[in-house]
Amino acid sequence: MLVGGYAGTWLTNEQSHQVTLDRRGMAAVGGIVGCGAVVAMPASACGIHETASVMRWLADQTAGQCGPCMYGLAAIAGATEGLRQGRVEGDVLARLTRWAGDVEGRGACRYPDGAVRFMRSALKTFKADAQAHALGRRCPGATRPAVLPIPDVRRAA
Ligand code: SF4
Repeated sequence: MLVGGYAGTWLTNEQSHQVTLDRRGMAAVGGIVGCGAVVAMPASACGIHETASVMRWLADQTAGQCGPCMYGLAAIAGATEGLRQGRVEGDVLARLTRWAGDVEGRGACRYPDGAVRFMRSALKTFKADAQAHALGRRCPGATRPAVLPIPDVRRAA
């Protein structure tokens, strides 16, 4: 389950049955209520696939004014895309974790902090899937269309 939108946090199935949807409840599982959006994912969905789609969109929405946001989110999105496709070099999970730390708190606004919170929660919630993808073993869900909607900003413009 995804709680709090694209700056929010993923919850495991077990957590989603235990947590209360308020600030205190979400804080207890390292999450936030954020915008209040809650999305229950089908069991067939791939969390890494979904996360890669959203990370690409988040990176593309940077205002391009701060280096860590502009270059850091792009690098994280690129590495996550490699993970989605099972085409990675070296320890991509350690790299993603390090880059998230490099970006956090280094923008003029909190936008990149929300993006790396989303990424970190994916690596934690979908740890086994992330490790499988890193070894080139993608799950069947990674070949299906992503479930989470990605706004088409070109159409909205
Ligand atoms: S951190 Fe905020 S102000 Fe800086 S580029 Fe990103 S969105 Fe713009």
